[in-house]
Amino acid sequence: MNTTNYDIVILGGGCAGMQLMYQFIHHAQYKGESILILDADKTYLQSKSWCFWHTNDAHPYQSIFNTTWNNLSIGFLNETLESAINPYRYSFIKSESFFDFHFNEIKHNPSVVYSNDAVLSIDKDANQFIIHTNKGIVTTPALYSSFWNQQQISKETNLYLKQQFFGWEIEVEQPVFDASAATLMDFSITQTKGVNFAYVLPFSTHSALIEITGFCSEDYTTEFFEEELKKYIQRKWNCSFKIVKTEYASIPMTNFLFNRFTSEGAIAIGTAAGMIKPTTGYAFNRITRDSKLLANQFFNKETPAEFTHTRFKFYDRLLLQLLKYSPAKALHILMQLFRKVPYQQILRFLDEDSSLFQEAVLFAKLPKKDFLKQVFKHGKKN
Ligand SMILES: Cc1cc2nc3c(=O)[nH]c(=O)nc-3n(C[C@H](O)[C@H](O)[C@H](O)COP(=O)(O)OP(=O)(O)OC[C@H]3O[C@@H](n4cnc5c(N)ncnc54)[C@H](O)[C@@H]3O)c2cc1C
Repeated sequence: MNTTNYDIVILGGGCAGMQLMYQFIHHAQYKGESILILDADKTYLQSKSWCFWHTNDAHPYQSIFNTTWNNLSIGFLNETLESAINPYRYSFIKSESFFDFHFNEIKHNPSVVYSNDAVLSIDKDANQFIIHTNKGIVTTPALYSSFWNQQQISKETNLYLKQQFFGWEIEVEQPVFDASAATLMDFSITQTKGVNFAYVLPFSTHSALIEITGFCSEDYTTEFFEEELKKYIQRKWNCSFKIVKTEYASIPMTNFLFNRFTSEGAIAIGTAAGMIKPTTGYAFNRITRDSKLLANQFFNKETPAEFTHTRFKFYDRLLLQLLKYSPAKALHILMQLFRKVPYQQILRFLDEDSSLFQEAVLFAKLPKKDFLKQVFKHGKKN
């Protein structure tokens, strides 16, 4: 069988695989090391979008931001609160732009190869990984993997919820959307099964992506999502519309402790490395940070350490417990958070960049009874 060696192999050419490749080839110490990306699923063909907040500093993907908002709004039963989020901004990238950008990088770098060959098995000897694919054998001393197994994670942990969302990108004839602010969460929709909210990304006065999201253990039906979307669009804008695109996803929300290394000894990346923040579903910027770190460690010949689990894991677990066992209280706490705390402080906290003092100030604004009860009731569970 044909055997080929690469300096670096990345399993999975999705969000994390592509970002890691980008960080390698743009690293100051990169000297043309050969890189193979293996992705059998052609996920890049499935259209989706990524949104995330970031500071005003230069961002590696600034050139492909499709839209950026300086303001965010949160909806409650009888009102909507809008606020500027300076020094943050909230940006949107279509997966088409993301993959075009990275395939263009690959096209211009002869040391990077992208292949749809399927991985059959992975072995390891003292010096290298041996990857058996449907086309041959690939060897490499540096293996990164975004492959993961949802069943294994949901079986191994007590706390497993899903962030399910279903949305339509719509176009309307009348100029009804206010494109100055994205709606992060609008809690004014039907609350059933778990905590539900609408999410609105207005691209112009005539077009927007509107999603219904649920944080819940049970599955929602497509009928539920479609019904809620129709009701929401009718109530907010009262207009007829054309559906341009549909987006559906189910993202794990779990207290499963992901490892830095896979069972084969590869360095885990992306979802497989726990980059999806359990309580929000956001991962894009965490993946950007992690990819930079991994590229630095590669060129400095450092082995990444196993993750140390910080106090943020504890906070995530508390909110997951609330969402699972007391969704009405979780909803109340989330609404209080967005009513009482400036959005910038919430974004910093969700980025896990806040100090203990800032967290204490933030928690002091939450309903203490519900929150403390949760700490004592479930703090030691799971
Ligand atoms: C629809 C959707 C919208 C999202 N929106 C946002 C957002 O707005 N903001 C945000 O921050 N996060 C968002 N996320 C969460 C997160 O950013 C994404 O899930 C992100 O794509 C995770 O990156 P990844 O590389 O781990 O996984 P993926 O991007 O899914 O890539 C994994 C790749 O590995 C390949 N692969 C996996 N297993 C195998 C296997 N066994 N064999 C062959 N190939 C395999 C897949 O084909 C895929 O290409 C969203 C997730 C989804 C699903």
